[in-house]
Amino acid sequence: RGNQSKRNVYVKAIILGDSGVGKTSLMHQFVQGRFNSQYKATIGADFLKKDIDVGDGRVAVVSCWDTAGQERFQSLGVAFYRGADCCMLCFDVTDARSFENLDNWRDEFLLQVGPRDLENFPFVVVGNKIDVEGKRAVSQKRAMDWCVAKGNIPYFETSAKRAINVDDAFRTVVLNALEQE
Ligand code: GDP
Ligand code: MG
Repeated sequence: RGNQSKRNVYVKAIILGDSGVGKTSLMHQFVQGRFNSQYKATIGADFLKKDIDVGDGRVAVVSCWDTAGQERFQSLGVAFYRGADCCMLCFDVTDARSFENLDNWRDEFLLQVGPRDLENFPFVVVGNKIDVEGKRAVSQKRAMDWCVAKGNIPYFETSAKRAINVDDAFRTVVLNALEQE
């Protein structure tokens, strides 16, 4: 079937995590297939869109919501969270503090969104910057143990810089969101 006969389904994905872990870089790598080390705190847009062919006659139109840097000093506001279908929780594998803060990001998300089915909400956890050598501060096991404890959240180790696992992480959380429909 051609694209014309495919049905669009809309998915709002939000990207959370401490400032500097690589959220904006992950989104740009996913949506545009590019890494640019020059992003500053703000990107101007609220979200970027990308289509994912789900392979069952549906095309997921994914809007990725990134913060504009305000995660550092203020809450993200209701519009950011409203209607989120899935959530990517990000940390930097070279920064233990950013991993320890995942609890706070998850709690804040659940508080703001209040999903009906708390246990099965489609999260994904991303440990980014695996290309950085010799600075690993969070082991794969430690991250996976946390994910298991929080209800078997899928875990991906990524590099936005080298385009490792970025598409897989986004695809997984989007497909899980579609399953919830
Ligand atoms: P954000 O604050 O979470 O949006 O993080 P950014 O995307 O702005 O990235 C913060 C810094 O980390 C920037 O200097 C990026 O170039 C860098 N960065 C992001 N992802 C990676 C990665 O996978 N590997 C490396 N080496 N650096 C990265
Ligand atoms: Mg950013």
